[in-house]
Amino acid sequence: MTHPAVHIDHYINGHIVPGASGRHLEVTNPATGAVTGHVALATHAEVDGAVQAAAQAFPKWADTPPIRRARVMFKFLQLLNEHKDELAHLITAEHGKVFTDAQGEVARGIDIVEFACGIPQLLKGDYTEQVSSNIDNWTLRQPLGVVAGVTPFNFPVMVPMWMFPVAIAAGNTFVLKPSPTDPSPSLFIANLFKQAGLPDGVFNVVQGDKEAVDALLEHPQVQAVSFVGSTPIANYIYETGARHGKRVQALGGAKNHMVVMPDADIDQAVDALIGAGYGSAGERCMAISVAVLVGDVADKLIPKLVERTKTLKVLNGENLAAEMGPIVTRAAHERISNYIALGIQEGAQLLVDGRHFQGSQAGEGCEDGFWMGGTLFDGLTPDMRIYKEEIFGPVLGCLRVADLKQAVDLINAHEFGNGVACFTRDGNVAREFARRIQVGMVGINVPIPVPMAWHGFGGWKKSLFGDMHAYGEEGVRFYTKQKSIMQRWPESIAKGAEFVMPTAQ
Ligand code: NAD
Repeated sequence: MTHPAVHIDHYINGHIVPGASGRHLEVTNPATGAVTGHVALATHAEVDGAVQAAAQAFPKWADTPPIRRARVMFKFLQLLNEHKDELAHLITAEHGKVFTDAQGEVARGIDIVEFACGIPQLLKGDYTEQVSSNIDNWTLRQPLGVVAGVTPFNFPVMVPMWMFPVAIAAGNTFVLKPSPTDPSPSLFIANLFKQAGLPDGVFNVVQGDKEAVDALLEHPQVQAVSFVGSTPIANYIYETGARHGKRVQALGGAKNHMVVMPDADIDQAVDALIGAGYGSAGERCMAISVAVLVGDVADKLIPKLVERTKTLKVLNGENLAAEMGPIVTRAAHERISNYIALGIQEGAQLLVDGRHFQGSQAGEGCEDGFWMGGTLFDGLTPDMRIYKEEIFGPVLGCLRVADLKQAVDLINAHEFGNGVACFTRDGNVAREFARRIQVGMVGINVPIPVPMAWHGFGGWKKSLFGDMHAYGEEGVRFYTKQKSIMQRWPESIAKGAEFVMPTAQ
């Protein structure tokens, strides 16, 4: 059954606000290719409306005791748990990822909300009695004001939840600019917040494209911007935001390697490469896109990898048997196909060609969707563009090296440094690898080492611009500023002006 395309609008000051610009983008179901919605694209004036609403709501929300802010977060958490499958279906409908993976995405977002419920403890400051005679000194952290989040298509629930639960629990008010590719979950979340009793204006959503992002970056009342997306845009956000005096954390793209040592369990390594390479159609910033095969491991591993890539269950994401769904958009499908053609041109050996896969194989009604199977290359070399650039699709390449040192040098020379994994049974290899590798998130026999809610997420090199990781205690620091207070009382003040630098007495 087909449904009429819906309007996907803004959410400002506790209400849905229809887009006034007349500009919109089509939202499609990638499994069927059907247009399911039209998302509004905000103007500068509409963004200003959202920022003004957030600015007005800020003083009262910042003054609300942290325990009461936490209670709203607890209620939001309860509602999220009640509605998590509806959210997961919304993700599958607009992103295409398989439903069980979408459930996992929602669960990882919920982890951050649980973390944010502990905000009273996280905001506790430090106190030193008697730093000098009759003087005490303490530090505390206060919210920044209006903060903004700009998020990518590939995790329309989890990535915004890396940001707003911590920001809002810390006393800020928030303007979210989600990806226009899969914007519906943002409004569902706004509605749950309303039901949870969050005051109007504390959480706002502006739908949009570059115009909306630029309006946020330039707005004098926006104090900080969190961004997750591709590296060129992350770089732009970091530079532009900093030029406008804002605190910025901008997480960018990736090219994640998985090293397989000769002593690794081959079947476990194959399972890991298949799941981490093709899960979510490779559209994860922590997806493995390069298998670094050490010594003679390639000869044992590649035949198994070929077999498994050919037999991936590529199906409509709503089919519970699906292992991989469609590609997010027609444009992304074309970009990935072009990279496969480029790989052949560059001299890599194409072992499995996902371009042959037809939508009709994915299920009824999928003929016009954006379908592709898994693609596997062997013989990658460090000078190839398919090795250097982020493809962001179900394309896995194998690269052979002689030993661990070559593997580490190769990875350290890459411009990205988001995630990495090493499969081995040798404790010393594991330890050396984790210590020497120039990458922000490392997995030892863990292919996708996304840190838990209280540890914080962030890459190195061109995978992150800024110095603070997302969520965890780094997130609390990002969304608050430290204040130091020193006090004494008139009874203890000696008479007379002091002209020398005060020291502890
Ligand atoms: P993208 O960079 O195209 O878009 C991200 C956001 O920026 C969207 O909200 C988009 O509307 C906005 N945007 C796009 N072009 C812009 C411009 N010229 N000026 C201002 N804003 C602009 O990324 P995407 O395609 O939505 O997401 C995929 C990318 O995100 C991949 O590169 C992936 O690696 C990366 N990603 C990184 C992480 C991480 O944690 N490092 C996590 C998820 C995704």
